[in-house]
Amino acid sequence: MSKAQVKFDKKSVYFVPLGGCGHFGANLNLYHYDGQWLALDCGMGFADERYPGVDILLPDPSFIEKQQDKLAGLIITHAHEDHIGGVVQLWPQLKCPVYATPFTMEALKRKLDEAPYGKDVPLIEIPNMGKADIGPFKTEWVNMAHSIPDTSSIIIKAGDVTIFHSGDWHFDPKPTVGHSCDEARLTQLGKEGVHAYVGDSTNAGVPGVSGSESDLHDDFLKLFKRAKGKIGVTLFSSNIGRLQTVLTAAEETKRYVCLVGRSLKNMADIATQFDLIDTSHILTEDQAAHMSNNQIVYVMTGSQGEARAQLPKVAKGEHPTVSLGQGDMLIFSARAIPGNERAITDMRNQLTISGVEVVTPRDHHIHISGHPAQDEVLKMFDLIKPNAVIPVHGEYAMQLAHQNLAKKNKVPFSILPENGTVVKITKDKIEQVGQVEANLLAFDQKRILPLDHPSIRERRKLSFNGTAFVTVLIGHALHDIFDIQLSTLGLLDEESDEGVEVLEEIIDTIGQDLLTLSNKEWQNDAMVEEKIRVSTRRYFRDWLGIKPIIIAHLVRDSD
Ligand SMILES: [Zn+2]
Ligand SMILES: [Zn+2]
Repeated sequence: MSKAQVKFDKKSVYFVPLGGCGHFGANLNLYHYDGQWLALDCGMGFADERYPGVDILLPDPSFIEKQQDKLAGLIITHAHEDHIGGVVQLWPQLKCPVYATPFTMEALKRKLDEAPYGKDVPLIEIPNMGKADIGPFKTEWVNMAHSIPDTSSIIIKAGDVTIFHSGDWHFDPKPTVGHSCDEARLTQLGKEGVHAYVGDSTNAGVPGVSGSESDLHDDFLKLFKRAKGKIGVTLFSSNIGRLQTVLTAAEETKRYVCLVGRSLKNMADIATQFDLIDTSHILTEDQAAHMSNNQIVYVMTGSQGEARAQLPKVAKGEHPTVSLGQGDMLIFSARAIPGNERAITDMRNQLTISGVEVVTPRDHHIHISGHPAQDEVLKMFDLIKPNAVIPVHGEYAMQLAHQNLAKKNKVPFSILPENGTVVKITKDKIEQVGQVEANLLAFDQKRILPLDHPSIRERRKLSFNGTAFVTVLIGHALHDIFDIQLSTLGLLDEESDEGVEVLEEIIDTIGQDLLTLSNKEWQNDAMVEEKIRVSTRRYFRDWLGIKPIIIAHLVRDSD
C-alpha cells in the first residue's frame, strides 16, 4: 500500500509501530484516537557488522515529530535499553510528558541528568498498578515479571476499544526480586474483553516455558561450592533478580561480591534505593583486592564482549583491578544477543587459554529468559482472550511464530506488522490500512543519521572492497603529466616488492590511458578525473576481481 494513501479518521483507533518489528530492539509504538497520539517505549538497538562504525540504532520518529502537538504522552514500560535507551536522543523530537513507574522513572532520571535538556522533560511518575488519563487515552499499568524489576503491561482504553500492550514479560511464579504477573487482573481483563493484544514475540518460537529466576539458585550454589579460586559472573547489568541470586549463593558460601562496571553499579544503586537487594556482602574493588581468592565473586558487565565493558578487558589481562587465571571460574549468566557471537567466542577462548574454567548456560542452569516461550504465550491468550493479536518486539521469524500461535489458538484476527504498518483497531476486527515512513536511524558517535545514509553505505563498501586514492598533477598543454601518486587502503601490502610493482604498474596504466584523451577532453577537469577513475577501477577489477572505491584528485599546474 502506498505511503501517501494513509488517512487517519479522527475518531478511529490505530496502532503504528515505528520500531521493534522485523529487527530486535529500538522499540517505539504509537496509538491514535480522537486526533491524538500516545507513544509506548522509545528504545535503542545494537547495530551489527552490516553498519561499520555504528554501535547504536534508533527508531525514526519523524512521522510523529511532524504532529508533535498531537502527541499526548510517552509511556515507558520498563528500563531495558531497547525500551528506554532512545529517550535521551529522541525526546527533542517528541517533546511530550513521559510516564513511568518508580524504578523505571529513577533509571530514566539518571539518563536525563546527562542530557543538556534533561530538566525540560516533564516526568510523571505512576505508582505500580496505577492509572492515568493521557489525552483521550485511559491507561492502566499491570504488574508483570521480566528480567528487570518494575515491568508493566499497559491496558489502553480508547473510546470503546480496549488494547492490551504487553511490553516485555514472562510468567515467573517465583521471581527473586520484584513482582510476578498480576494474573488476577489479566483474568478479569479477559472477562471485560480485549480487542487487540499487542505482544512480545521474542521467544514465540521456543517451546515450553521460560522458567523461574528462583530455579537458578541451586546451580549457582553448586558451582560456588565447587570453585576453589576466584569466581567471576557476567550478566546484564539491569538483571537485578540475577544479581540477587548471585548475592544469595555468595553469602551461603561465605564469599563477598564485588561489582565491576559503571552500568552495573548504577543499576545496583537504584535497586538499593528501592530496597530490592541485600547489599551486606558487597565490597568495593579496593576492599576486594585484600580478600583471598576463595572469598570473592566479581560480577562484571561485558557478557556480549562489548569492547568498553569490563569482562573483555579481564579476558585480555588488561583490567586494572580484576584478573582471572588458573584455578578461577567464570560464569556466563546471559544469552548471546544475535550479532555478538564472534566477540563472545573470542572472549571465552581467551579466558580458557588463561586456565579459567568457563561455565555457560549450556552446561548448567544459570540463565533463563525474561520473555514468554510458547506455553506462556498460549496461557496469556487463555487469560485475556483477545479478539486480535498483533505480534511485535522481534525479528520477522519470531513475529511469525507468535502469529501462528494466535491462529492455532483460534484468535479470530491477527496482523504481522512491519515498522510503519498502520493497523486500524475496532471492537469487531483489526485491519491493515496503510504504511507510514519508519526507517531505523544510526546513532553515529555524535550524529543521528538514516541507516541508508551514503556515509554508512560507503563505509561498508570501504570495509569490503578497499579504497585507492589517486592524485594526478597535469599541465594545460595536451598530455603534460607531471606526477601521478597512488595510495591504497585494504588492497595491497604497499611495503612489499609485489605491492610496489603493482603500484608502479597502475600508475603506468593511468599514464597510458591519459594519453588517449583528445585536447578538448584534456581541458575538461571532470573528464580527466573520470578517465583516472575508470582506468584505476579497471585495473583492480581485472587484476583482483574487486571494485574498490576510487578517489581521484586532479591538480592542474597553472604555469
Ligand atoms: Zn525487556
Ligand atoms: Zn525488550
